[in-house]
Amino acid sequence: MPGESRPPETLKQVFARLIRAAGPISVAHFMAESNARYYAARDPLGTAGDFITAPEVSQMFGEMIGLWLADIWIRAGRPTPVAYVEAGPGRGTLAQDALRAAARQGLVPDVHFVETSPTLRAAQCARFPQATWHDDFSTLPQDRPLMVVGNEFLDALPVRQLVRMADGWRERMIGWDAAKDRLLPVAGDRPMDAAVPAERAAAREGTIIETCPAAAAVTGDVALRLAAQGGVALWIDYGHAQPRDGSTLQAVRAHAKVDPFADPGEADLTALVDFAALVPAVASAGARCDGVVTQGEFLRCLGIEARAAGLARHAPGQAAVLARALHRLVHPDEMGNLFKAMAFSAVHWPKGAAF
Ligand code: SAH
Repeated sequence: MPGESRPPETLKQVFARLIRAAGPISVAHFMAESNARYYAARDPLGTAGDFITAPEVSQMFGEMIGLWLADIWIRAGRPTPVAYVEAGPGRGTLAQDALRAAARQGLVPDVHFVETSPTLRAAQCARFPQATWHDDFSTLPQDRPLMVVGNEFLDALPVRQLVRMADGWRERMIGWDAAKDRLLPVAGDRPMDAAVPAERAAAREGTIIETCPAAAAVTGDVALRLAAQGGVALWIDYGHAQPRDGSTLQAVRAHAKVDPFADPGEADLTALVDFAALVPAVASAGARCDGVVTQGEFLRCLGIEARAAGLARHAPGQAAVLARALHRLVHPDEMGNLFKAMAFSAVHWPKGAAF
């Protein structure tokens, strides 16, 4: 009808059209496009959104990271200028809390954000009008040490999955089930045996192996910069320290797990970060791996309990809220064990506390 505009095509419709025309797409393609659409147009954080992250739980999280950075910077001899780089900074909350705490120790870096979402860039700009934004790590300054932080960034990067079939390994793809009008995982038709490490080649039928080439590429790129320019990187994410089999792809919407294939672009897709798999990329770039610890260990070692007690003394009315936030961040049944912190640095830089 004249004047009547058609509703914009959903990502599910786009994928269906693409798959009908050209065949199934890889899980990595599916995840990359879904998250690009998901983050582009919304701020998913907070109680009214889809999920809550550690910096949104309490200011104490960012403060501990700021103190961690300042301690390293002081022991490195207070190099100036120095850049604070945050990957996927969300609302800028972590940066705000970390840089406030760091400034009290004399660390006042210039601020660089690697962020692709226009909506979240706008939120970050409200807090950091002087920051510099980057689409990826390639445009970061080359003339100064980098102090890089990423919380719940690596888990949003696309994973590739391989599945063991009766006759060998195939890439796990997303196909279109026309009868049921839905996307569903299928095995690709090309043999992928060469992509599977020898020790896992004989796994039983149905086994899924997940890798995240994008996370290895990002950490490798950052490690190259640290080796050349000095600095440290800290990545905190939902993940495991040792590799394991199986798909860890999950979707969260309105604080509940949903089917990752049902409404692409409408739910946050994540996969567990396999920290051990990032070590070779860091080592071959010439940086030093400082290790992986649980979020609980990391925050406790930096003194989060003392900080919570101090805040409660100043605001006794907030004591219960602070105690709940502390519990959520460090307790093994909450975020304390599931989330891990991984650090790597330039070889001539000191190792961060807790590692
Ligand atoms: N670190 C924040 C937000 C985590 S959500 C916090 O802890 O609250 C993931 C963040 O990564 C968002 O800011 C999202 O827009 C960003 N992001 C996701 N994929 C990205 C990519 N490929 N490149 C840059 N930023 C990305």
